[in-house]
Amino acid sequence: MLKQLITIISDQSRIFTKESIEKQYLSDGLHAQFGEADVLIKPKDTQEIIAIMKLANQYGIGVTARGAGSNLVGSTIPNGGIILDMSLMNNIIELDPDTFTITVEAGIFLKDVQQYVEQYGLFYPPDPGEKRSTIAGNISTNAGGMRAVKYGVTRDYVQALEVILADGTLLNIGSKNVKDNTGLSLKHLFIGSEGTLGIITKCTLKLIAKPKAIQTIVFGFDSIEKAIANVTTILKTLTPTALEFVEQKVAQWGENYCGYKFPLPHAKAYLLVMLDGMDNDDIDKQRQHLINALGQVDYAIPKSAEETNQIWTIRGSLVRAVESVTQQDPIDIVVPINRIADFIAYTKQLEQQTKVRLLAFGHAGDGNIHLCILRDNLDDEQWQQKLTEIHNGLYQKCHELHGLPSAEHGIGTAKVKYFNAAIPLENRLVMQSIKQTLDKKNILNNQVYVNNK
Ligand SMILES: Cc1cc2nc3c(=O)[nH]c(=O)nc-3n(C[C@H](O)[C@H](O)[C@H](O)COP(=O)(O)OP(=O)(O)OC[C@H]3O[C@@H](n4cnc5c(N)ncnc54)[C@H](O)[C@@H]3O)c2cc1C
Repeated sequence: MLKQLITIISDQSRIFTKESIEKQYLSDGLHAQFGEADVLIKPKDTQEIIAIMKLANQYGIGVTARGAGSNLVGSTIPNGGIILDMSLMNNIIELDPDTFTITVEAGIFLKDVQQYVEQYGLFYPPDPGEKRSTIAGNISTNAGGMRAVKYGVTRDYVQALEVILADGTLLNIGSKNVKDNTGLSLKHLFIGSEGTLGIITKCTLKLIAKPKAIQTIVFGFDSIEKAIANVTTILKTLTPTALEFVEQKVAQWGENYCGYKFPLPHAKAYLLVMLDGMDNDDIDKQRQHLINALGQVDYAIPKSAEETNQIWTIRGSLVRAVESVTQQDPIDIVVPINRIADFIAYTKQLEQQTKVRLLAFGHAGDGNIHLCILRDNLDDEQWQQKLTEIHNGLYQKCHELHGLPSAEHGIGTAKVKYFNAAIPLENRLVMQSIKQTLDKKNILNNQVYVNNK
């Protein structure tokens, strides 16, 4: 097979055989587990991928698509076969301001798309924490992020996709048209499918006009319960661009890591609110409206763009801050927004019961709670035992509260057990039959959830 691959990829510097594959390519964003692969290929265009997929399909060889490898659920940990590293397919193909769309290759970084369109007064709203993730990785995990409360998730911004199926069939799905009820919506099958149904090679993304003014307000509370109790009032008053909750003891990790400080140091918990609007008058009105609605609540408004940036940098660095001190296991649970406080209360109970530190923070506006389970000094056996106990407790609680095991990170290999418990068998069988139709030999990301019976 290697000989045939070499005839497809003329430039051999883009093919890496087993021994020469760097270790990082055998893992995900956590680097806690590693798989194995026979060959890593860096394709440079659609035609090469078509040829690779035809060959892999002919021999029944597994293919793991890889963007930046930042996922947190094990979905790029290969199980032998080929790693398709999309990093060289990172070009902007076309910005079309008249239709508010941009067409890009799959491997372009999110940050590059965001920066590029903003020069033209346009805006790509999806904003997951990892900006050096690729657009196709974002699409394949249906990434959300802080701005989801106002603008929605990646799914809401995908207009068209070029996809190569497992047998090398090329599909062009969707268009630049705003509305589309022309047949079954195939593009929605591929969005969030974690590389199991096809290789995304190009995509056309929807853009909006860039908001002209933004403002951040930090609200301080003397407990996390009181902070969460104000979320509904905020959402009834207006739709913020971002609405994040974080406890002071969690914020401290980010403060120490970044060397910046949150305002209101006496508060025990914060709600971070971002507003955007047409101009400063619009923002002032929104802010006043919100402050009136919340009544007697402590708040601070950053005095400069630099201070604003520091606040969001602290919030954005929480995971990295934890990882700089100890190994962590990330949780990405979603519960109905009126159950966030119940879930947080449970995490505190679990923390006491297991004597393992749990740091909760997240997207209060959409009920998405991120939790870092800290390993600290646990040895391998203790860590696995504690993880199982904590996972079982958390996902059971999530189920009781009518939540779901993943809001935006996906299932990958890490959450299969909880996916199977949360999703009815009938639904899983439909998913498997779709997988079987599109990938008869089960070669695409065959390690992840959809194949699990
Ligand atoms: C610090 C940090 C903060 C984060 N914060 C958030 C957050 O706030 N909100 C949020 O939603 N997510 C968040 N994430 C998760 C993040 O959204 C994902 O890690 C990211 O979207 C994956 O992009 P990637 O390019 O790294 O893809 P990879 O990790 O390489 O791949 C992810 C999945 O997509 C598949 N895939 C990749 N490229 C293709 C392709 N071309 N065709 C088909 N399948 C493909 C892979 O096989 C895999 O299943 C965070 C991650 C980190 C590390």
